[in-house]
Amino acid sequence: PTQPQALLPVLGAELQAPLVQGGELRYVNLDYAASSPALASVADYLNEILPFYASVHRGAGYASQISTSVYENSRNVVRSFVGGRPDDTVIFTRNTTDALNLLARCLPAQGDVLYLDIEHHANLLPWQQLPHRSVLAGESIASTLEILEKELQLGSVSLLAVTGASNVTGEVLPVAELAALAHRYGARIVVDAAQLVPHRRVDIAAADIDYLAFSGHKLYAPFGSGVLVGRPDWLDAGVPLLFGGGAVKEVRLDSVSWAEGPARHEGGSPNVLGAATLAKATEVIASLDQDEWQQHEQQLRDALIEGLQGIPGVTVHRLFNDSESYSDSGSIGVVNFSVSGYDSGLVAAYLSAEFAVGVRDGRFCAHPLLRRLGLPTGSLRASFGLGSRFADVERLIAGVNKLIAEGPTGDYVVESGRWVP
Ligand code: PMP
Repeated sequence: PTQPQALLPVLGAELQAPLVQGGELRYVNLDYAASSPALASVADYLNEILPFYASVHRGAGYASQISTSVYENSRNVVRSFVGGRPDDTVIFTRNTTDALNLLARCLPAQGDVLYLDIEHHANLLPWQQLPHRSVLAGESIASTLEILEKELQLGSVSLLAVTGASNVTGEVLPVAELAALAHRYGARIVVDAAQLVPHRRVDIAAADIDYLAFSGHKLYAPFGSGVLVGRPDWLDAGVPLLFGGGAVKEVRLDSVSWAEGPARHEGGSPNVLGAATLAKATEVIASLDQDEWQQHEQQLRDALIEGLQGIPGVTVHRLFNDSESYSDSGSIGVVNFSVSGYDSGLVAAYLSAEFAVGVRDGRFCAHPLLRRLGLPTGSLRASFGLGSRFADVERLIAGVNKLIAEGPTGDYVVESGRWVP
């Protein structure tokens, strides 16, 4: 395939150098869905604010004032990135898992949480511990909407929890339609946007999404920060996530009145640098040409699927047969596949050792879904990001072709549960 109007030149200055040595691309990262490397301007920003490192909301000192203003401004940047309503609460968390667990503590006493079997465990386990109803997705998005509607019609659903894009197959769910469906039956919706936000702009006010959660480390910021954005009433009524300093209005020896707003759930000294770098990353993402970015990723994904499907014994896995009719490309830059006759862990180890290609293998923290896809021992996932290029796709296809034709060079053994050469 010919090189499209790649984002790489656009982002040239943004991509950090270590993956390239002596002008040659040494390592191909096809695991952006797990974590994406911090962008150069995010790293620069980190260095810029590092000298002003001080605890927020606590001191009158200059550094503390700067830290506080950076931290609070980050909230506004993130709010505007996701199209938040003015009264939405923006809570900084450690990651998506933290954000969804936080929301789970704040649900009203009455009502069930409804979720599908396609979810990442982070958007399944918090709800499984509460009154809940779980349903299997259908073979199409259309039938899945019907399945959800039937369940909602039974009444007493307080919250529909759904992913914005599957971390297993990359397929994009119609979140605005799902929000309208939930609201029609008096339920609210939370969207796990961990995979969606790094690939698609989301406007929660326009889509009428009540709560949105995502992680910084999948959005070109460092590890350690995430966010929950959403309607304040449940969050202000919920038990604080952590009991401690900052989360309170007034403490007496044997009683406490809790703060409202984000402070309620941000007990302890917050991760100022995490919040600030996450916010910076959203600014870079927001500045990209959305069409160009999406088209680039789609071309890479189509080329990879075409290449893989041309190899005997390779199967590409999808969830729905109609995802294209629900969003412009149906899927973010994620391709899930397996190679007949080879354990996925062995394929991943081989691609890494012999082709310097990093893909993810296993069950992607989505055991119920992998079981339903008939992949109880797992599969492989290649995922694209801002630095991905056609040469990456070619290298992966070459690796799988060689494996099928010749088998692995040398012996691979399992050590501590992982295949190694
Ligand atoms: N949801 C989805 C769809 C994900 O892909 C992930 C990360 N794999 C998570 C939630 C959890 O994100 P984190 O590990 O950052 O909490």
